[in-house]
Amino acid sequence: METLSKLICPVCNSPHSEVFFEMLEVPVYCNLLWGQQQAARNCPKGDIKLAFCPSCGFISNVAFDPAKLGYSQDYENSQHYSQRFLEYAQSLAAQLIDRHHLYDKDIIEIGCGKGDFLISLCELGNNRGVGFDPSYVPRVEHQQLEDKLQFIQDFYSQDYQNYQADLIVCRHTLEHIPNPADLLNPLREAIGDRLHTTVFFEVPNALDTFRHLAVWDIIYEHCCYFAPTSLSQAFSNAGFQVCNLSEAFEGQFLCLEAQPTTQASPNGGVDGVEPLRRDISAFTAKFQAKVETWMHKLAEITQAGQKAVVWGAGSKGVTFLNLLKLQDSIEYVVDLNPRKQGKYLAGMGQQIVAPEFLQDYQPDVVIVMNSIYENEIRQLTKDLGLTPELICV
Ligand SMILES: [Zn+2]
Repeated sequence: METLSKLICPVCNSPHSEVFFEMLEVPVYCNLLWGQQQAARNCPKGDIKLAFCPSCGFISNVAFDPAKLGYSQDYENSQHYSQRFLEYAQSLAAQLIDRHHLYDKDIIEIGCGKGDFLISLCELGNNRGVGFDPSYVPRVEHQQLEDKLQFIQDFYSQDYQNYQADLIVCRHTLEHIPNPADLLNPLREAIGDRLHTTVFFEVPNALDTFRHLAVWDIIYEHCCYFAPTSLSQAFSNAGFQVCNLSEAFEGQFLCLEAQPTTQASPNGGVDGVEPLRRDISAFTAKFQAKVETWMHKLAEITQAGQKAVVWGAGSKGVTFLNLLKLQDSIEYVVDLNPRKQGKYLAGMGQQIVAPEFLQDYQPDVVIVMNSIYENEIRQLTKDLGLTPELICV
């Protein structure tokens, strides 16, 4: 039983949040690299119990324990090895520069990861950048950029109020914080009366996860799932005026642009709550059906004596393999990121291999974890002289 205090919605304070979905004993880190198979299988695990707030649409894991997570430099989340993702990030950077006339300006990125996106923003507009991320690893090639770029291996907090910017970017970070106000309130305070500052946030789109059944996106590290309604309310409550809220990356992401305001703004976006409530009440049954369809499909592959590999050692791949408990039927997971290759996947312990490995292994089936990369993967396998069946999850 969850305690009542846990089920009060952190976005709107409604006491009516209800647990609608559980997934127990999942790896707490999807992107932590393991050097040994047994260590990967014995990785730390935690429970997911998702609650839905019927007032604002906010979804969160009420069983989340932040003490289980502490991001380190072994945490490998760069998606910049995929051409498709790289093109998306580049075009997003160009749009931001253009729309906000960011030339010779100051940019902050909260949760900058390896710094690739911040570097794009700075290079495209000859801007100056400061990136905050406790998992940032200093890189030799960053040294030559040091007159324009600074990286701080820490969480962004009020301690850094003296760093001001024309644009503050934060991508795929807010969903890792149990209470969005813990990031947004200090951010609003740090901006103070510099009302011209624009903030840009990108998060996974809960509508894609719960309406379109992108179920492999449900991971322990994501303690929050935002739909447009709950995301805009979180920003309104923290003293921002939402200027733009749109879907991106074929609906997988939500992008929000906001500016600080000194006026209390009415809660925006509550309209979307009712359709989301219907999605949530149908979700568990649809989720079960999807899992059963996959169990059936994988049993067929095994019975036919075929070999399957998973393509994509990110969080979707980890969730897919762990949820279906595919410890033995799938041996290898392909990933383009050379830092992941040779390591083992959290939970089920598959070895991560480079695409070239498939020339020896000769898989019959490639299970594609993100359909957005299907064409890229088809081309890569074709270039290797392979024609496996590609199935998107
Ligand atoms: Zn709420």
